Amino acid sequence: SQDKQKHSFQAEVAQLLHLVTHSLYSNQEIFLRELVSNASDACDKLRFEALADNSLYEDQPNLEIRVDFDTEAKTLTITDNGIGLSRQEAIDNLGTIAKSGTREFMGKLSGDQKADAQLIGQFGVGFYSGFIVADRISVESRRAGAKPEAGVRWSSTGSGDFEVEEITREKRGTSVILHLKPEAAAEYLSTWKIKSVIGKYSDHISLPILMRKEEWKEGQDNQPGKMELTDEWETVNQASALWTRARKDVTEEQYKSFYQQITHDHEDPLAWSHNRVEGATEYTQLLYIPAHAPFDLWNRDKPAGVKLYVKRVFIMDEAQALMPLYLRFVKGVIDSADLPLNVSRELLQESRDVRSIREGSTKRVLGMLEELAKLEKDESASEEDKGKYAKFWAEFGAVLKEGLGEDFGNRERIAKLLRFSSTQSDAPTVSLADYKARMKEGQEAIYYITADTLAAAKNSPQLEVFRKKGLEVLLMADRVDEWSLNYLQDFDGTPLQSVAKGAVDLGKLQDDEEKKKAEEAAEAFKPVLAKLKEALKDKAEDVRVTSRLVDSPACLVVGDGGMSLQLARMLKQAGQ
Ligand code: ADP
Ligand code: MG
Repeated sequence: SQDKQKHSFQAEVAQLLHLVTHSLYSNQEIFLRELVSNASDACDKLRFEALADNSLYEDQPNLEIRVDFDTEAKTLTITDNGIGLSRQEAIDNLGTIAKSGTREFMGKLSGDQKADAQLIGQFGVGFYSGFIVADRISVESRRAGAKPEAGVRWSSTGSGDFEVEEITREKRGTSVILHLKPEAAAEYLSTWKIKSVIGKYSDHISLPILMRKEEWKEGQDNQPGKMELTDEWETVNQASALWTRARKDVTEEQYKSFYQQITHDHEDPLAWSHNRVEGATEYTQLLYIPAHAPFDLWNRDKPAGVKLYVKRVFIMDEAQALMPLYLRFVKGVIDSADLPLNVSRELLQESRDVRSIREGSTKRVLGMLEELAKLEKDESASEEDKGKYAKFWAEFGAVLKEGLGEDFGNRERIAKLLRFSSTQSDAPTVSLADYKARMKEGQEAIYYITADTLAAAKNSPQLEVFRKKGLEVLLMADRVDEWSLNYLQDFDGTPLQSVAKGAVDLGKLQDDEEKKKAEEAAEAFKPVLAKLKEALKDKAEDVRVTSRLVDSPACLVVGDGGMSLQLARMLKQAGQ
């Protein structure tokens, strides 16, 4: 029927709309970035679906985005000829938030409007940002391949409900029509303003973004002259995928703004690497290391980061097969020349090309990290550059450690990138190489201790003898330490040894006098030990005299092969 139907927004949407319109006002221009990015996504989707059904292109094979405005009607319209929406899709996609990220988004809002505005894109609530500037939004759309009569008009003032009606629309794709609020109308109904916002946020959209050309019109009858829009359209963005350009043709600023475009991260990345790889498999990679962790870094099921393209056609986000889990913080684009365009997630897992891309990209990322780490000690580096690795480590160190267990082939490279706090450095800046360089004469192991917190590690009685002898001990309190160190038996020929396991053998570090004393004490305490063992028989495997304590009377240790106390506690917490 032609009837208008009223629908209510899902409760979360209503809440979100309220937030968007009230709290994000100070960074309003991002609405255009969001709507242009949706238009571009819609074109990507069409291109992808058309791989299986070429007729979806109808008579319009050139995908594009048009931005137009009407100063009389005070409307700004973003039109794409992408996949379009069916009536049901309009109801589902513009009225509910299927994404579980929304709740988290709400929880993350800080009241700091600028930071909140950055969250909008990350959480995929982009469409609603239109209500920052509009008091009514109409969306007119027709799905590719559907009849003109199967068009839909969705419309809402952004408060509580929306209306949906059927319309006839010849052209495939979507127009988002923003009825601007008065203040926004004064600002955005201008070619210059819109061009500048597009230039800032959307320059690298790989589709052409078109606007009408303006022309000076002389005034008549004493009226002043003015600029008027013509019917001629021009492309206002670069419209070439950034990664396809030669490195020398891309400026630092462009790399940074591309990063912002794909991540919605307001901070500059710490490093990036752009390469065309040739050989058995051909691909282009543009990979970034962010300066801070996303909210869902610990969600190992959803490692978003690297986008897969095949010959510039967007194939999928979150292409997990392209990057190992322990590098899930890496963002960027990989464009393969070899994979079939219809490659599926399943196929990706099995493809030899993908394996080789993954290996190459892993090496590239480790290389970037090594470069950053080198800057730490580079006298000629700026203070900012010197601090980059520490910044990386603070954000992502715990994730990188997972690589010890996950990536056997690169274990040594990863080990060199590790940093720890120690009894000689509160800051987590001690590398295993630094430690080795400071080892005492006769010291045969790299000593470490794990605990729930750094403070607990640092104050552990198990450290007493090491302190007394001036031996450095690495302090570890990340949840993954215990697990990941299982995979690192030694570093550069020197074994790693937990000071909380078994009888610590200080070997050559103990002089004969000390050894004799310890033996005598063991002898003298034999009867006491026997009693203690009897009394603790259900609780302790062994009770022995130790030389590891200086001031404390007793401490708990685990057997050599046993789990550490820390790991045992962790498993207990997890109910095992
Ligand atoms: P996201 O882009 O992260 O999915 P948005 O809030 O920006 O979230 O958009 C919500 C959904 O609305 C999109 O996933 C898409 O299904 C639909 N949509 C928005 N704009 C368009 C468009 N121009 N063409 C087709 N579908 C669109
Ligand atoms: Mg979007």
